[in-house]
Amino acid sequence: MPVQALLAEIRRPLTRPWVLMEICGGQTHAILRYGLDQLLPPEIELVHGPGCPVCVTPLEQVDKALAIAARPEVIFTSYGDMLRVPGSGRDLFSVRAAGGDVRVVYSPLDALALAQAHPDRQVVFFAIGFETTAPANAMSVLQAQRLGLDNFSLLVSHVRVPPAIHAILGAPENRVEGFLAAGHVCAVMGYHEYPEIAERYRTPIVVTGFEPVDLLRGVLAAVRQLEAGRAEAENAYERAVTFAGNRPAQAVLRTVFEDCDRAWRGIGVIPHSGWRLSSAFSPFDAENRFDVGEIRTQESPLCIAGEVLQGRRRPPDCPAFGAACTPEHPLGATMVSSEGACAAYYNYRRQETAVAGAEIR
Ligand code: SF4
Repeated sequence: MPVQALLAEIRRPLTRPWVLMEICGGQTHAILRYGLDQLLPPEIELVHGPGCPVCVTPLEQVDKALAIAARPEVIFTSYGDMLRVPGSGRDLFSVRAAGGDVRVVYSPLDALALAQAHPDRQVVFFAIGFETTAPANAMSVLQAQRLGLDNFSLLVSHVRVPPAIHAILGAPENRVEGFLAAGHVCAVMGYHEYPEIAERYRTPIVVTGFEPVDLLRGVLAAVRQLEAGRAEAENAYERAVTFAGNRPAQAVLRTVFEDCDRAWRGIGVIPHSGWRLSSAFSPFDAENRFDVGEIRTQESPLCIAGEVLQGRRRPPDCPAFGAACTPEHPLGATMVSSEGACAAYYNYRRQETAVAGAEIR
């Protein structure tokens, strides 16, 4: 169905306002880039969820990365978007400028190859992100074990989506009435965890893709459920997602990782929301290898990213937005990350923000 027809279908059943949250930062950027929020009827408010891996990586983990990367025996590897993320004092680019061996890689297997090529150095990969990136990271650990490498480790900061949905819906301040779940996460994990959540909180959860038509199909499915008084897990991204997901990938995850409580930047600790290396693979845990467990940090008091990531406020509500906080000088990770909600508003709505103040729709 084309965009205009989808918009007409979304308008048809509407009898009242609804607040929907898209989980993924990639979805947030697509919504703002294509102006979908402005095309939707005014009754539909889209708020932006915590599904940006860089944004929710705790400051403590960034500081641990900086401490490890500064060590002379270490080659520290990461995807490029983490290099600009400021820790308490500096970022990985600064560590590299000061002589640290910090390298951008495109896969944990690139880091593994570095470990094979440099047996006299310790190679560490910064393993952040959701269920999408975790399988490849788990595979790299299995491969390192198979190769007998003792100079390869992961600094792990993996997070999982379903516990975050629990935390958002269970909070007394929650405004979210329907979720657009992240299609790529569900391509790995399926959506078998969602029916129980949808039923428990009486909130539709619709698996949604990333193209404009995908996003509008997700909105339409959520609106139809809400207007009909239903609250179900539904798949609107059938071309990529099945109920069960990618079982071999899930098996690898279960082999290498175990559940843990995990701090989400700006939000705090969410029970069972993370993965860490299981005890059988603890020799590959960089936190054990480099003894950085006690680093503690403090966020900027100006930053409201935690509220933004839970759909309670929007980036233009932040007094620092576009002033003290810009992509060149970010105060929080939602501005520095290419998937962050603050960066999305800065890139696509800055002019309107300047004209209309904090009120953007
Ligand atoms: S604009 Fe900057 S300071 Fe404000 S919430 Fe976003 S990242 Fe934090």
